[in-house]
Amino acid sequence: MAIQRRMCANHDNRMAIGVCVITKAPICAECSTRYEGVNYSKEGLAILKKRRAKASKAGMSSKAVGYMLAVVVSPLLVYAHFLFFEHTTSFFIDLQQFEFANWF
Ligand SMILES: [Zn+2]
Repeated sequence: MAIQRRMCANHDNRMAIGVCVITKAPICAECSTRYEGVNYSKEGLAILKKRRAKASKAGMSSKAVGYMLAVVVSPLLVYAHFLFFEHTTSFFIDLQQFEFANWF
């Protein structure tokens, strides 16, 4: 593809210095915002922000789900430990009190 001399999508009289990575629109220096090493048009940047906001919201909700799960599951785990130790201690007490002579 040949390099084209393109004009800014927003300014007919200005030369485009780059292309927005999101909208692919040619943009001039004034319309371009350099962010994380790449060019964005205003529209592209708005789309990026929307995407980032959506992503962070999704991250928050999965974190919240994890937290809720921990809140619900940890008392159950504590109870499971209680049951386990209660059971095993009674087993050891039984073992201690077991008299071999009773077998005969
Ligand atoms: Zn422009």
